Amino acid sequence: MGSLNTTMGVIDEVKQRVDIVDVVSQYAKLTKAGRTFRGLCPFHSEKNPSFFVYPEQQSWHCFGACNTGGDVFSFVMRKQSIDFGEALRLLAQRAGVAMPSKFEPGAESEERQKLFQANEAAAQYFHNLLLNSTAGEKAKSYVLGRGLSLKTIADFQLGFSLDSWDALKQYLINRGYTEGELLTAGLLVEAETGKTHDRFRNKLMFPIFDARGRITGFGARALDDSLPKYINSPQTPTFDKSSTLYGINLAKDAIRQQNLAVIVEGYMDVITAHQNGFCNVVASMGTSITEKQVSILKKLTKNIALALDADAAGDEATLRAVGYENTLDAEVKVIILPRGKDPDDVIKQDAKAWQELVTEALPIVDYTFNVVTSELDLTKAGGKSSAVDKLLPIIAEINDPIRQAHYLQKLAQLLKVSERSIEAALARTRPRQARAEPPKQGVAIPLPPLLSSPVEEYCLALLLQHPELRDRSESLLPEYFENSENHEIFIAWQQSDKIESVKERLEPEIHQHLDSLLTRKLLSDKIEQKYAECALELRGKFLRSLTRKIEAVLAQEAESGGTTAELAKLRELGTTVNTQLAEVLAQKNRMRLEQRGVR
Ligand SMILES: [Zn+2]
Repeated sequence: MGSLNTTMGVIDEVKQRVDIVDVVSQYAKLTKAGRTFRGLCPFHSEKNPSFFVYPEQQSWHCFGACNTGGDVFSFVMRKQSIDFGEALRLLAQRAGVAMPSKFEPGAESEERQKLFQANEAAAQYFHNLLLNSTAGEKAKSYVLGRGLSLKTIADFQLGFSLDSWDALKQYLINRGYTEGELLTAGLLVEAETGKTHDRFRNKLMFPIFDARGRITGFGARALDDSLPKYINSPQTPTFDKSSTLYGINLAKDAIRQQNLAVIVEGYMDVITAHQNGFCNVVASMGTSITEKQVSILKKLTKNIALALDADAAGDEATLRAVGYENTLDAEVKVIILPRGKDPDDVIKQDAKAWQELVTEALPIVDYTFNVVTSELDLTKAGGKSSAVDKLLPIIAEINDPIRQAHYLQKLAQLLKVSERSIEAALARTRPRQARAEPPKQGVAIPLPPLLSSPVEEYCLALLLQHPELRDRSESLLPEYFENSENHEIFIAWQQSDKIESVKERLEPEIHQHLDSLLTRKLLSDKIEQKYAECALELRGKFLRSLTRKIEAVLAQEAESGGTTAELAKLRELGTTVNTQLAEVLAQKNRMRLEQRGVR
């Protein structure tokens, strides 16, 4: 697959960062149903929900009057009646992905500035309520009760949001912000009725700053038993959870000076650490650390220590940490917390104990060696081989050859076996590296499906490079192209009679992909036969995917006892699709036989 884009394009980045369930939820009320989400179709009117969203495939399908589906781009295009380019810009903005500069960079940064200002004004409003209002007394006594000083409360600009649907909205609108701006900033939420209201109500507010000290968004903690206990700003043009480190504005100087960044999990952990003079502490915004967060820290230090719960510091965390090491090109250490304790607890109990834990932090691979070997009897063959099973996959992940060799040696010495036998075992341990992606760039960014599809691309390359195929009888449908770039290219090809005009019809973001298809090297023999095969393959792929979607719905219906009429209809559709799929298979077999006959 050498012709795939080497750098991630805007489109792929948007796809990775936007979740279809979030996007669709803006327009339709969805309910989780098994592995799918279900709701009334936002495109046609209906009483029984026949609209489904598939998070795993990042796709949607309406089994009702629309009888069609697609990905997040096609959803937004249809819903807003806009073209692909506009949908891309809209979603890019939502995901905080910067579009190439020709899309009015001035205008965008002006918009962002306005959002930063709105966040700033909101933070001041919340902060003032916490310190000076009767309504905020409960929140204030909560933070004082957790041992925070007034100076700390001021440093972190902690605040309180009133138990009101529109207090902040009115306050900011009176100060000249528009409802649209406040929605974009994530301070307001749009209800189904189209009315907007305050997102944060009756919460302890934690403004979230970027390294430059601008407020990008908010974290909020419920002060009563309401769930969820914590909520954050949604993804906005200023707030991107995956590139946020809580406390970085106050921690960056200390991180640089001490040449060490300590990563904890919670807001309160950061605040307590800082109040006690441990100012090199920041929080990740969730359990896993992202490559973007690592790259922010990388500018300040190469040394990262993760504060992990003893239970969490398992294999998985270790593998992830090795990913960070590869990104940082340095060692990641691990601070092991006493079972069931947060850094907040540890520091409050005994600040010196925290300091000791930090000093004693071990490189995470060494730590894992200790854990694994303490559980095994290394004088026995069984103990030795399970040590190899557990440690070798971790060693295999290490990119730096010198560090990798160091740990191979260490393992050989521990087990009293030859280094050569360990190296031989390493050569066999390649499952994680055998993937199509370039060597692990780290870290836990889940890759959504359909970033590329070899069959789709091969088929398009054939069509684009061989005009004679245009008149072939195989009827390809746009739906067969699940990847949205391929989908757009196919539609543009359908609408153009010349190759030159295909490009004119496409958004500039897709040109690079188009060029790679136009210049892909194809063998020139049996073009028509190859095309017939791959058109069939695409149809089969489309039908299989549809079958999976129908099955997911049926499985869920069976559990929840859906109405029989609907079930019958879906089953019928499922049968039709299966028949079509069987035809595709039969045709494939015929083709195979014919080819053999020719030879
Ligand atoms: Zn529909």
